[in-house]
Amino acid sequence: YTLLSGVLLSMLLGALFHYIHLNYHSIEREIIRGMRHNEFFVEYQPVIDSQNNKIIGVEALLRWQHPTEGRIPPDIFINYAESHGLIVSLTQYLLRIVAIDAHSLAYNMPKGLKLSINISPYHLTTQSFRDDVRHFISSLPQPNFLNIVFEITERGMIDNEQAMSDFMWLRQQGIEVAIDDFGTGYSALIYLEKFTVDYLKIDRGFVMSIDQNTLTTPVLDTVLRLTDQLKLKTVAEGVETASQAEYLRQHGVAFLQGFLYSRALGLDALIDFTYKFNRQIVSANV
Ligand code: C2E
Ligand code: MG
Ligand code: MG
Ligand code: MG
Repeated sequence: YTLLSGVLLSMLLGALFHYIHLNYHSIEREIIRGMRHNEFFVEYQPVIDSQNNKIIGVEALLRWQHPTEGRIPPDIFINYAESHGLIVSLTQYLLRIVAIDAHSLAYNMPKGLKLSINISPYHLTTQSFRDDVRHFISSLPQPNFLNIVFEITERGMIDNEQAMSDFMWLRQQGIEVAIDDFGTGYSALIYLEKFTVDYLKIDRGFVMSIDQNTLTTPVLDTVLRLTDQLKLKTVAEGVETASQAEYLRQHGVAFLQGFLYSRALGLDALIDFTYKFNRQIVSANV
């Protein structure tokens, strides 16, 4: 396992240096500079209710437009920020943008919109986490027509008292919790019984295993039986084809997200797209 994560880390760092031809220390400076110059922004990817084919949620995704390097993928800079103590500032930055956008989302998107935000497990264990969340909640529009969901990867489900109390506390604040990228982490399934979570996001890898010719995908089917027994609502990510969507719908997946419907969009484009999509003026781009 240590070897594997070492290999993965060096692959990521290799990719990182491909994107930023600077030395190690200046990447840290670049992120800080980028935040000061507002080079980071947020896009929202629609989430569709599989039963009525309407947009009922969005996932906020951070973007970085670097002045000389162009778009830097979040997988790269988030990972770097996590390992260099910058993820808290970056998340605070994102929460500030989302809180501003929330006013427009609350009035221009369907009522009760689920607004999902990715929270790093590293942030969860810091001193500032609860203050950051309180500050975010207090800056949301009132009355609040939004349902906030925090997406946390499996490695955030570490079996400790602190994480458990953080989860209980989040739910007391009215925030729902989703396990992100389910099936790619440690998958110590015991946490599913110990932590109270609301949604499980099935990783894109499982969705990719569904194709037109395959009638069964045993691992995915097992995961879906499990979530059914645990009464967990599921979200499938990375839905790219109509046949994948159909399979997931027939197997009880409540929410669908992927390029079949839409990529992540800027705020105005999202509102426009949602208006048309929910009136069936546009359908999935098949
Ligand atoms: P994630 O949370 O699993 O987000 C979903 C990723 O899958 C997004 O990539 C999205 O654009 C991509 N995706 C969605 N539908 C499809 C599809 O149909 N096909 C394919 N091939 N991809 C699809 P993105 O935006 O590049 O983000 C990658 C990861 O970076 C996210 O994975 C998340 O772990 C992290 N990330 C992004 N923004 C934030 C953030 O604000 N905070 C934190 N902590 N992490 C973030
Ligand atoms: Mg996510
Ligand atoms: Mg995900
Ligand atoms: Mg993912």
